[in-house]
Amino acid sequence: MKQIEATQAHVEILMRLQSIETESARLEKKLGGVEAQTEVQCKRLNELEEELEIAEATLASEKKRYATIEEELAELNLRITKSTENLRVISNAKEYQVLKREVDDNTKRVSEMEDVLVSMIEELEGLEKGVADVSRQRDDEKEKIDSIVQEIRNATTEERDALSAMVKEKEEISGQVPKALFEHYEKLLTTTNRLAVVKVSAGVCYGCFMNIPPQLYIEIQKSGGLHHCPQCHRILFCDA
Ligand SMILES: [Zn+2]
Repeated sequence: MKQIEATQAHVEILMRLQSIETESARLEKKLGGVEAQTEVQCKRLNELEEELEIAEATLASEKKRYATIEEELAELNLRITKSTENLRVISNAKEYQVLKREVDDNTKRVSEMEDVLVSMIEELEGLEKGVADVSRQRDDEKEKIDSIVQEIRNATTEERDALSAMVKEKEEISGQVPKALFEHYEKLLTTTNRLAVVKVSAGVCYGCFMNIPPQLYIEIQKSGGLHHCPQCHRILFCDA
């Protein structure tokens, strides 16, 4: 390992950074749990949103179908009126017959289409009621969820404030540590199960609970700086 310059104050800052790291992780886990809980609550709301979307799409497509039939019906009625007018002036019996049959067929068709429209009005009313029902249920659920989310937020205000204060502090103090030392510490965090800096007391490393060589202990007590446990390689800190 290349020589990294560090004073006792630097190691103290690393200690603080590490407690911030541990505490932040704990709070993030807690807030993450709260987030997951909110998502579970939102499941019913999402289902209702989907249901509403489908109901609205069905209603829109049926309305469109109704309008198309209505249009066709108007055209057909227009044709019947014209043909009826023509019937009055036709003198040829065969032509009269053909046109008369056409008028009769179209009149029958108009009556069938009118029946379809009548039955569709009922259907459309049902679909509209369905949309209104689901929409109301969705609104109720949304209101419920909003209040639950607000409640959860209020209950975690302290945690969220603490977390953002720690993020700010971390930013401030990590800049006070030499870059090489900070990188060394971050790397150690990953290899030591997030415990890179540990106390050494009465010659015992509090990372692995083994005795460190007496000479090393004296050195740490005397001059501080950057020292590592020979067993677990953590940075040792002595506050006595
Ligand atoms: Zn150790």
